[in-house]
Amino acid sequence: MTAFSELGLNTKLIQNITAKGYEKPSPIQAKAIPLVLAGGDLMAAAQTGTGKTAAFTLPILQLLKGAGRPGPKDVTCLILTPTRELAAQIADSIKSYGSGIKLNSQMVCGGVNIRPQIRNLARGTDVLVATPGRLLDLLGQGALRLDHVKMWVLDEADRMLDMGFIPAMRRVHAELPAKRQTLMFSATFSRDIEGLAGEFLHKPQKIQVTPANTTVSRIDQQVYSVDKARKTDLLKHLVQSEQWGQVLVFSRTKYGADKISRQLSKAGISSDSIHGDKKQGARTRSLKQFKDGRLQVLVATDIAARGIDIQQLPRVVNFDLPHVAEDYVHRIGRTGRAGETGIALSLVSADEVSQLQKIEKLIKKSIPRQEIDGFEPEHRLPTKEVKTSGKRPPRKAKAKTGAHQRRGASSSNGDGQPARRGGQNRRPSRARA
Ligand code: AMP
Repeated sequence: MTAFSELGLNTKLIQNITAKGYEKPSPIQAKAIPLVLAGGDLMAAAQTGTGKTAAFTLPILQLLKGAGRPGPKDVTCLILTPTRELAAQIADSIKSYGSGIKLNSQMVCGGVNIRPQIRNLARGTDVLVATPGRLLDLLGQGALRLDHVKMWVLDEADRMLDMGFIPAMRRVHAELPAKRQTLMFSATFSRDIEGLAGEFLHKPQKIQVTPANTTVSRIDQQVYSVDKARKTDLLKHLVQSEQWGQVLVFSRTKYGADKISRQLSKAGISSDSIHGDKKQGARTRSLKQFKDGRLQVLVATDIAARGIDIQQLPRVVNFDLPHVAEDYVHRIGRTGRAGETGIALSLVSADEVSQLQKIEKLIKKSIPRQEIDGFEPEHRLPTKEVKTSGKRPPRKAKAKTGAHQRRGASSSNGDGQPARRGGQNRRPSRARA
């Protein structure tokens, strides 16, 4: 098995990695680090949780040594990332992996005062981590120049596409010198991502750590079939009676996130919500409280949850399913991080069946359905599943897991087929409430 010392990293970086307690490179690190050190362009498919931040940060820190000091307002390495949370996380990684290495790294994103950012950029920056909107603002104000950039990283490029950042990426690209090294990371390789790579990258090496568009198998995925109007009660019930530890709950809407968090708090469960309408300070505070263990439940929208990195998060819950199937993969990637196992539960009502089917098609497997005693839905999920292996679905199985009698398939690795129950083929009716 590859060791960090075999990847070509210098002693100082190896010391810093060892101090963090990493024993060996993750697969993406083992593949990406030597390629980045060799200087070529790279296109990598890796989900969050695979160690991709270190996969680009470590070789960049090493290459910066030979890159010379930046002139005033110049930037040597530009890392573009879709959200503030992700930017903050990358900036933290640069600080910890780069501990003891003299360099000027900055993070710029919206939601905070621009003036200190302008001041800090004036003396030149070795590594700049930025979200697209704020970067363009700063460029417009003449606070920095990008014509001496030697390395450009596009992190979570698929998310940047989804968030409509293509024009911003093109504007940034237009400011960059033609001769540079470009690295693009994306959870999946879609046709759009390939197109973007064609525009921005030069003969990139392509690497991939899990097969594209599949979820990581160490995450135990389950669907709890429940009526829409009863989802909050079920969530409260599960948190309390199963004595869950920390849980990250996803809501499709900001309004929903606030409402869920309010209702949990009312039931005496410490919880808060984060989403794009909240001030950056409030988001950072809630996240810190959650990381410190002072909040049991954090309810987040998809965008706000990007970049949340909490080690050993045991459980994520999809209060509702995302409209974009790829978001499901991102959501559940918050658990089962870097070698841990995790549980991803989705509370699914009959009106969400088409989203569920799209997700199962994308991840190429059926997610086992269960029902919780006392919360059996009036409107059952139809049993139409994705064809994954040609195997016949198992017969009805009963499982007793935790404090609840659950009905349905009891596969623990997420590759079983859902059990069928009488009446499940009813047409999905319009959800209540
Ligand atoms: P990322 O995919 O970059 O969001 O990283 C996910 C988590 O894995 C972070 O908490 C890292 O600190 C951790 N991590 C990164 N590389 C390793 C490694 N080689 N061994 C153990 N943990 C790691």
